[in-house]
Amino acid sequence: MLTLVNSDQRFDKLTFNFLSTLNIIDHIRNTRDITRDELEQILETEDKASIEYLRSSAREVATAAYGNKIFMRGLIELSSHCKNDCLYCGLRRSNSAAVRYRLSDEQIYDCCEQGYKLGFRTFVMQGGEDGWFDDKRMCRIVSTVRQRYPDCAITLSLGERSRESYQALFDAGANRYLLRHETASPEHYARLHSAEMSFQNRIDCLYALKEIGYQVGCGFMVGSPYQTIDTLYADLQFIRTFQPQMVGIGPFISATGTPFQDQPNGKVGTTLRLLAIIRLLHPPVLLPATTALGTLHPQGRELGIQFGANVVMPNLSPRDHRKDYAIYDNKICTGEEAAECRACTEGRIRKIGYETVVDRGDFNPNLEY
Ligand code: SF4
Repeated sequence: MLTLVNSDQRFDKLTFNFLSTLNIIDHIRNTRDITRDELEQILETEDKASIEYLRSSAREVATAAYGNKIFMRGLIELSSHCKNDCLYCGLRRSNSAAVRYRLSDEQIYDCCEQGYKLGFRTFVMQGGEDGWFDDKRMCRIVSTVRQRYPDCAITLSLGERSRESYQALFDAGANRYLLRHETASPEHYARLHSAEMSFQNRIDCLYALKEIGYQVGCGFMVGSPYQTIDTLYADLQFIRTFQPQMVGIGPFISATGTPFQDQPNGKVGTTLRLLAIIRLLHPPVLLPATTALGTLHPQGRELGIQFGANVVMPNLSPRDHRKDYAIYDNKICTGEEAAECRACTEGRIRKIGYETVVDRGDFNPNLEY
């Protein structure tokens, strides 16, 4: 028996070595699963043909699900205040150099009105964990936007709140919630966050959001300090298990005034490969080509789309405050008005052969692909 096991193991190893990266990509696509070694091989290959095959496979799957449509969401950054102290974030409470602002109700409604006139049918309201935006204030804002724009989706990204708070916001009219899980490894999570933050609470929040009925987005930074193949593998398995409607990933970019300010940025190439892998693992997912990708590479968002992303989020925030939502250094798109931002994004996407759409673009698990 022992001999059989050993020969099986030898056979497995030989088989694995004979499998080319192309076969691995087909395997991921067909099974919607990946092994740790397959992930390592894809992230480490230098073979251009393999990377191109990964890109074209992911794009084929995205196109089969959503055609050549890229969904545009209008982003409104409500507040640069935050009670948390995440080690990677420029808005952390300990960063005394961060410029703090809050949008008033009226400023938020103005952003929505401008966005609606520009055609946006999804508003993404994002902010640090700021007690000023308590349930009363936030429910008032959400229900006003819901009343004024019944045809629009309202996405919130306001961090960890109580289940009751998530329920109240859902009842007020919010449809979607983005909460990056940051890492699916509790040990890695503890190295990225201050001691009062809890990995388990974050995961509990994600499950609570799903149970309430939100379309939920999770996600992580690529190349964050202490990230390994094993933590990335855990991230991908978390996505497979949790089956989120959206996944937001972007390269880690260091932020001045944080403990990680001297850490190297994440790699664009690794981010693109992971975008493609996520598309193959979870074909109907809504997958943004993030601003962080565009910050590290002049064509970062276009490349993201070519590797399987299908969402972009032009900024609708008032121009005066854009640069103050400084979660990382050198963030792009802080100088344009909303209309310019929309036109620029649309132009870039058209140039690479895709069509931008501003409709709600809801997650559809029944798509054929
Ligand atoms: S990542 Fe979010 S929760 Fe953490 S400090 Fe930044 S804004 Fe606050």
